[in-house]
Amino acid sequence: MGYRIIYSVVVPIFNEELVILESYKRLKEVMDMTNEEYELVFVNDGSIDSTRKKVELICEKDDRVKLVNFSRNFGHQAAITAGMNVAIGHAIVVIDADLQDPPEVILQMIEKWKQGYEVVYGKRAKREGETFFKKFTSSMYYRVLRGMTNVDVPVDVGDFRLIDRKVCDALASLPEKSRYVRGLVSWVGFKQTYVEFVRHERFAGETKYPLNKMIKLALDGITSLSYKPLGIITYVGSLFSIIGVIASIIVITKNLISGTHILSLGLILSLNIIMFGIAFLSHGIMGQYVARIFEETKERPVYIIDNIVNYKQQAIQRKKVN
Ligand code: UDP
Ligand code: MG
Repeated sequence: MGYRIIYSVVVPIFNEELVILESYKRLKEVMDMTNEEYELVFVNDGSIDSTRKKVELICEKDDRVKLVNFSRNFGHQAAITAGMNVAIGHAIVVIDADLQDPPEVILQMIEKWKQGYEVVYGKRAKREGETFFKKFTSSMYYRVLRGMTNVDVPVDVGDFRLIDRKVCDALASLPEKSRYVRGLVSWVGFKQTYVEFVRHERFAGETKYPLNKMIKLALDGITSLSYKPLGIITYVGSLFSIIGVIASIIVITKNLISGTHILSLGLILSLNIIMFGIAFLSHGIMGQYVARIFEETKERPVYIIDNIVNYKQQAIQRKKVN
């Protein structure tokens, strides 16, 4: 492969001034234990606090630390994508900055990689310090997603994982812009396994995933991996049409035979509201796909880089090798 660095650890960061130093310390400790060459790739996703400054200071002291600064906040998945694109290791690990994913688990992932696995994902056996709402919705979501797609998406798995260079290159070759990285990793295939871990509480600070970002990620996941919602609305529409025809026949016949009106105004109104609801929902579902088609046709990049610290030499080297 031509380049020395064996492991790249990609860390997306957005306003993580309270955790970044500890995160660097723990990652360094763990990666030093491998006794092999590594790099830590921090991707600063448009932080507006002192995160950038703090990482730049680390970069000055430790040239194994690389920093990719985005021009603004492009989102967690874009940051992971950028990190994977610039990483030059033979194995690439993606990990959150907040230490919810314990860095020590990376060593177990490396063990599996050395046994020949090309994707080693971290499976959350237990989640500590997260709200019931988050745990419940996330657990339901993974199961619904799995039921909706033919791709083998593992449940209770986030973006904490190790991937082989081959997988990283395969992901880089996928041109889509709405990137649901964990789904794409399942989609590309290769020899996959997992290690279980306990997901701890955030080391410090607040979650950077408010409800709106969570919903966007969830919808990206479904629309990027499955057409089933479109099938479901087709079936629901057909079912209600059939029920409508049968109900009309019953009402007309009753009226003709006995002259009685069996439907009240209230009932008709309620049924109308349900029908409107279903119609709008169907439009909404179609709209989600149309919006994503629109996004793709614009062909804008997934992210824009402001600058990269500590990378020039290797980036050039990698270009040559590839
Ligand atoms: N993150 C990011 N961009 C964003 C939101 C989050 O790079 O727009 C990073 C964040 O700094 C962290 C990781 O993505 O390293 C996961 O975010 P967070 O821990 O807030 O999510 P949660 O664990 O609460 O789902
Ligand atoms: Mg977190």
